[in-house]
Amino acid sequence: MAVAYAISEKLVYTKENEYTGNTQYYYRMRYCPVCGTKRQRCLRIEEEGETTAYICKYAPSDKEIETAIGTCWVHEESTNKEFKKLKEIKTIKEPKSKPLNEETLSFRTEVYNTMKKLLIKYEKENLPKYKGKIIPLYKHHYEDLKKRGLNDEQILRNGYFSVPISNRKVFAKDGNYKHKITTAISKDLYDKFGNELLNVPGFIKLKDQFGNEYITYKTKVSNYLVETDKNGENVVKTDKNGKEMKEYVEIDGYFIPYERLGNIYALQYRLTKEVYDNKGKKRRYLWYSSKQASSGSPIAHHIPMNLKRIDVLLVTEGALKGVIASEFLGFEGLYEAGVGNYNNLLFTLQKLEKIVEKKFKIILALDMDKYENPDVLRAEKETIRLLKSTGHQVAIAHWPIEIGKGIDDALLYLHKLEQKIKEGEQLINELNTPELKEKAKEKLLQMKQIYNESKIKYKVV
Ligand SMILES: [Zn+2]
Repeated sequence: MAVAYAISEKLVYTKENEYTGNTQYYYRMRYCPVCGTKRQRCLRIEEEGETTAYICKYAPSDKEIETAIGTCWVHEESTNKEFKKLKEIKTIKEPKSKPLNEETLSFRTEVYNTMKKLLIKYEKENLPKYKGKIIPLYKHHYEDLKKRGLNDEQILRNGYFSVPISNRKVFAKDGNYKHKITTAISKDLYDKFGNELLNVPGFIKLKDQFGNEYITYKTKVSNYLVETDKNGENVVKTDKNGKEMKEYVEIDGYFIPYERLGNIYALQYRLTKEVYDNKGKKRRYLWYSSKQASSGSPIAHHIPMNLKRIDVLLVTEGALKGVIASEFLGFEGLYEAGVGNYNNLLFTLQKLEKIVEKKFKIILALDMDKYENPDVLRAEKETIRLLKSTGHQVAIAHWPIEIGKGIDDALLYLHKLEQKIKEGEQLINELNTPELKEKAKEKLLQMKQIYNESKIKYKVV
């Protein structure tokens, strides 16, 4: 073996073997028989004309060493053990898929919460802080939530966290070399949870360059390539074989947990930049899901920090929107993943009412563009029918669409207007001419009028 490789090798240095006293020759190989690469980073050690070991940069063994080019692994030729190990490619047996019950749900919750903790562990220097606590969101994700009207306390309490940006480098456990944050977090999760991770939506099995299988979480999302057809509509491009064209882009976004009574049922994520789906439609909110484990269509529940009414329950579509609206209004809420999910909504509502031993008055707040969409209107009608058939009092929330399509945007608009009115009232006292005062009063009156006209109104149905 030594002869065959000698031509393409370069002697890098020599060293005395402290045990045998022989000279060890270290050769840099053009081709490494351990990992099979030609990257010229792996070494062969020769002693008394015999190969005794390889120091490989790419194929792990249980003998890890630090070198000038980072972590490498020793593979000893003499015992041949490591080589045998190498030939046995690591495969991961897929666990039996399990139904969503108390046990699998709490496992799911623990995995997601651990993922959040690991993001904090590896990225703490780059994350915002509040009262000594680290907010698990990259700055631009954090700012998006602030812009929507949530404060730091609410952000922390609601459990949002960023999808770790996969190309960031972090220090490995021993602190000696850096690797991708995705590798670090996936490894930690695998050590703790093992193959069962595949039963959690968003976790997938992949193969490394040596054919070894490993489990990681999704870091990419497909983005279909679109073009406009002759009617001006977006359509997905196809290649010459008629296959739809798409690319995979890194996920830059944050998770929105769909939580209920302390359990995370699923994670939705909000992308900073929209992608196109296979129908050529722009998508910003997607489910963290995988083939082995689906996110399902969960119903989220939330109790706001300043609960104002204990008999009212806000029902809307989408947990991000719903939670923000609940925080503004001071109403408890249930949020469906889609408007057509009313059967599941009612089932969840009845279960919740059994636990808390009360019947809620329901406020239904679907987006105000519902009048342009017959499917949404039909779903609203059906939801009301079901709610009433189970003896619930129902009111529909409405507001002018100009101040916001969703109830969260409308409430944010109203909140800002309210602040402006308050500021204006204080400012009036500081004005020193009667003319200015009169003008300001007039302006304030106008603002108050707009406020009253735009306020969320409830119609009992
Ligand atoms: Zn190698």
